[in-house]
Amino acid sequence: MAIPMIHHPGYTIELPERHPFPMRKFRVLREQLATPAIDRVADWMQPEPAERAMLARAHKPEYIDAFLTGRTDPTAQRRTGFRWSEDLVERVRLETAGTVLAVEAALAQRLELNTAGGTHHAHADAGSGYCLINDIAVAARHALACGWAKRILVVDLDVHQGDGTAGLFEDEPAVFTFSMHAGTNFPARKRQGDLDIALDKGVSDAEYLRILENTLPRLLSEFNPDLVIYDAGVDVHTLDRMGHLDLSDEGITRRDTYVLQTCREGSIPVAGVIGGGYDRDIGALAQRHSRLFTAAATL
Ligand SMILES: [Zn+2]
Repeated sequence: MAIPMIHHPGYTIELPERHPFPMRKFRVLREQLATPAIDRVADWMQPEPAERAMLARAHKPEYIDAFLTGRTDPTAQRRTGFRWSEDLVERVRLETAGTVLAVEAALAQRLELNTAGGTHHAHADAGSGYCLINDIAVAARHALACGWAKRILVVDLDVHQGDGTAGLFEDEPAVFTFSMHAGTNFPARKRQGDLDIALDKGVSDAEYLRILENTLPRLLSEFNPDLVIYDAGVDVHTLDRMGHLDLSDEGITRRDTYVLQTCREGSIPVAGVIGGGYDRDIGALAQRHSRLFTAAATL
């Protein structure tokens, strides 16, 4: 069966030379996914920029207006890691719409992947840590509001805690936030999610997978979601500049395959986003992100 995969050339914008965010990875990932194995299964779709009302599903009106018009102050901009620009706004609107489309397509097709997304540090009233609008929260709220889903499990395996998502859903019983991350990583002040597993520095493949295998099936059976939103951040990789864990390439493939397979066995649709990954070698980084797509294609 075809797997909807979502990409937009506008996911990548120009940043100043030496900017630490690997903005080119989205474009390179899409180029790397032009393989016979992916082409056989991929049904590529392009999102339209999310409207203001969509962003308002998860964010305060004052924050959205400031973000859309560039009226966020320099301190707030520094906290996000990006200087405001119209291109940046367009990029964020596309990425958010990509995840909303992912959720919609996943509910129809069982599995869908966005070549961006996972901006889990964005809060209702502020951006943080390269995250301006919380695409996971917007998509989850939209799915609930449209009646597409009644119980949503967020499986956030990015190496950083999904503090924005945890805060946005702390009073929302229809969304369960699960984050497994390195305890020593950003953000320094974690927000309490529904289940947080803080791993020690240096955890590698076998221990990581053991913990995941001891947790995910239990969550699926106890919370009984009708949709999983999966943040497949690859900053868990041993060579990542910002992670504190030691997963290998193969470990990432095993992790992604395990999540997709386990949800499939439970007949639970999955919308996957690529999450974080920080490496100056953009080719190697995109290759790590491509493992999610290859895992989906070979299920
Ligand atoms: Zn991360």
